[in-house]
Amino acid sequence: MFYPINTLNKLKSIGSLKIEFRELTNGFCVFTTLRIPAHYPIYQAKDTLIFQNQTYQTVQVDEQTHLLDFVFANMNHSCNPSTFIDCGSLTIFAERDLEPGDELTFFYPSTEWRMERPFKCRCGASGCIGNVKGAAKVLSSSLNRYRLNRHIERLRNTILTREKTASCAKILNS
Ligand SMILES: [Zn+2]
Repeated sequence: MFYPINTLNKLKSIGSLKIEFRELTNGFCVFTTLRIPAHYPIYQAKDTLIFQNQTYQTVQVDEQTHLLDFVFANMNHSCNPSTFIDCGSLTIFAERDLEPGDELTFFYPSTEWRMERPFKCRCGASGCIGNVKGAAKVLSSSLNRYRLNRHIERLRNTILTREKTASCAKILNS
């Protein structure tokens, strides 16, 4: 599913949104039109479509659920993200003070455990993780630098517990 341009143009005119869409060479990007202090909410998703299966435009909100929302779907990834999508409240929060015209980006592994379309990151941030994949495939030392959603933390803990149990079993069997 893809949001056609005329839908995006209509959404641009919704006055209460603090955001606008622009079409750049790499596709649609989302920008703030206002000055927004760090940690302030920017947008809350309301009319979302729920998917059991992931697409490259959905955002994972828990272990089993993927949502399609027109703003989330058009936000780019950054390794130095300007926002955080809180999957509990479906709200985008500013990660730092934002000025009008700043792009709204988020760290994709903060919501996605696996990604349908991994890609090479060109965000240019220092500490860029390089290949953007779901959190399952990102080094722990990199993930530790970011705020992650609870379902990602739960999935990480499940893997860590499994690994610990496996290594204990190995020791017991040796
Ligand atoms: Zn990057």
